[in-house]
Amino acid sequence: MQNRVYNFSAGPAILPEDVLKEAQENLFALPGVGMSILEISHRSKTFDKIHNEAKADLKSLLGISDNYDVLFLQGGASLQFSMVPLNLMPPKNKADYILTGSWSKKAQKEAKRVGTVNVAASTESDVFNHIPKQEELKLDPDASYVHFTSNNTIYGTEWHKEPEVGNVPLVCDASSDILSRKIDVNKYALIYAGAQKNMGPAGVTLVILRKDLLERSPDSLHTMLNYKTHSENNSLYNTPSSFGIYIIGLVAKWLIKNGGLDAMHKVNKEKADLLYKCIDESKGFFKGHALTDSRSLMNITFRLPSEDLEKKLIAEATAAGFDGVKGHRSVGGLRASIYNAFPKKGVEALVEFMKDFQKKNG
Ligand code: PMP
Repeated sequence: MQNRVYNFSAGPAILPEDVLKEAQENLFALPGVGMSILEISHRSKTFDKIHNEAKADLKSLLGISDNYDVLFLQGGASLQFSMVPLNLMPPKNKADYILTGSWSKKAQKEAKRVGTVNVAASTESDVFNHIPKQEELKLDPDASYVHFTSNNTIYGTEWHKEPEVGNVPLVCDASSDILSRKIDVNKYALIYAGAQKNMGPAGVTLVILRKDLLERSPDSLHTMLNYKTHSENNSLYNTPSSFGIYIIGLVAKWLIKNGGLDAMHKVNKEKADLLYKCIDESKGFFKGHALTDSRSLMNITFRLPSEDLEKKLIAEATAAGFDGVKGHRSVGGLRASIYNAFPKKGVEALVEFMKDFQKKNG
């Protein structure tokens, strides 16, 4: 077995080692099946079981009730930027979007092709360094839905409590913090998330959708773009990402084995606190991008006094086995993505490394 580095990548991201080992062991042949998950039919009994267990485990982890569908779709979270407005905007054809980063802007761009978008709030003028306060939201009580991004992967900000939107359906892009903590799914009309950060490999997108919303989907929609198609066919209208669903299933079992989402949230908080403490105690050498009350537990973004020092830290960190710490170009600096599967000892090691770097270069 080759040594593994500490993978701080924003996504595709680190997966639990136990999951990788089990998948590796079974990749040649699933026990008792004689074929791998890559080779079996998505209509087979074996796959049915894998699929249904993945769904049931997600439902139990997130406390999803039976009035919601759990779908595994393709096209990434980015296709949901289009599917959400195409299905949910009619008949009023207007929706509220809260802009807290590049991904919410991309979602808004697609919604504008379908109807009228009211920007309920935007923190762009502050380089998306915080989450707007409830009283700042200019919500339209007659909107078809309100869309927000629960965790802003690029800027490192996160909603610690979902916006209050009254009776308007709440739609959430939870790509980068799904399964990192318990949420009250009943507050949401639809949640979508690409798998490749906290759930599994790229190529499968989880959609949790309140079933009554299906009435809105116009029959004129292209078959594959209509949520009804996927709901009526249990995500099997066409060939799904069977490998992706299999890995999501293994990750869900790993989460259950490790105490569920409350336990995960506790560790996520401990990990993020270690890094934020290091930033806060550096006397300005490390400067966090996100304002304190908006800090993400998943993506920790920070800068150094100069770009030269940032380049030096990234190069030295990479050489020392800390991979993927370069920040996104729109923020610059560094970003440490520490999703569920990222081990606490890796965060502790990075903190030691950062302190040492400051001592030598501060
Ligand atoms: N939303 C968020 C919050 C993301 O972080 C990303 C990807 N980094 C996306 C959407 C787009 O996801 P995908 O690549 O699966 O389309």
